[in-house]
Amino acid sequence: MTPYDDSPAQAVSTASRTPGPSLIDGFGRAVTYLRVSVTDRCDLRCVYCMAEHMTFLPKAQVLTLEELDRLASAFVGLGVRKLRLTGGEPLVRKGFMALVASLSRHLRSGALDELTLTTNGSQLERYAADLAGHGVRRVNVSLDTLKPDLFRALTRGGDVARVIAGIDAAQAEGMAVKINTVALRHDNADEIPALIQWAHARGCDITLIETMPLGEVDHDRTDQFLSLKDVRQDLSAFWTLKDIPDATGGPARYVRVAETGGRLGLITPLSNHFCDTCNRVRLTCTGTLHTCLGRDDASDLRAVIRSGANDAELIDAIFAAISSKPKGHDFQIAASRPAVARHMSTTGG
Ligand code: SAM
Ligand code: SF4
Repeated sequence: MTPYDDSPAQAVSTASRTPGPSLIDGFGRAVTYLRVSVTDRCDLRCVYCMAEHMTFLPKAQVLTLEELDRLASAFVGLGVRKLRLTGGEPLVRKGFMALVASLSRHLRSGALDELTLTTNGSQLERYAADLAGHGVRRVNVSLDTLKPDLFRALTRGGDVARVIAGIDAAQAEGMAVKINTVALRHDNADEIPALIQWAHARGCDITLIETMPLGEVDHDRTDQFLSLKDVRQDLSAFWTLKDIPDATGGPARYVRVAETGGRLGLITPLSNHFCDTCNRVRLTCTGTLHTCLGRDDASDLRAVIRSGANDAELIDAIFAAISSKPKGHDFQIAASRPAVARHMSTTGG
């Protein structure tokens, strides 16, 4: 029995494999981190992420919970140690908590170090206790402003009070919360120091993200781009920022703000190259594996599993995809069209 219904389970066995990273790409990088988008749908419509009237994918194209479990578990069996569930908004996917409950077996077996999620926080108050109960110890919550009117405008209808209640609930359950803030030249540039202070005062790390040219939205994105190099320089005028060595293998660089004592991450995919140490790949909610956020490389793992592939054939397909992981990305904000046509909500942030 699967935890979802009474169809036969097809999880890849992790028991017979030797532990340790075995997914090594063509440039010698070990892939140990998988992000999985569990849905393209969302209860918000952030202006930099989605168009106001989005056409979402037909249900048949989206992986079932069993398929998501099978694919994620196959990667765990191949040495992935960290799994981040994202979307769209993961907490609006029907049956999401059953998926978390099922995947938590890899935490208990020791195959996985961390099961985590990125959420807009709007449903977090309701689900925080369940998440903590299934071993989720950290969540990333996206929050671009504390101003109710601006939040409503940026998310096209969201309520910032619900997000803050969600953060409160997660922290009350003992989870570490990291705030993700997209830096927007015209909307929140002035509020960034206040957001950092607010996050650090409540014991949260905060990471600033440059807007990335992913997917068509309703406006000119070059106009919103705010270089974090400039933000860092501005913050340095009144704060002491000390570099902290980074061990995440991701695009974030971290600094400690001496005055607040908190950690600040800066994700600068456009103005900084982070590809040499990249340890991650992304699986979309349609089962497409992207081995680089900034390129259009893609492997259709849904086709593999829906063709009836057995575990060995699935593993072969994963190895083939990983071996062609590109050396680096291809972003250019000045380009009039997105470097990558897919939306962040499909790929998973
Ligand atoms: N709905 C969840 C959330 O908002 O946290 C998870 C998915 S969302 C696509 C993941 C992250 O991607 C969020 O922090 C969001 O701000 C960020 N994001 C979305 N579109 C982006 C873009 N074009 N450039 C940079 N970050 C983006
Ligand atoms: Fe939804 Fe997250 Fe995209 Fe905002 S950033 S529209 S919350 S998926």
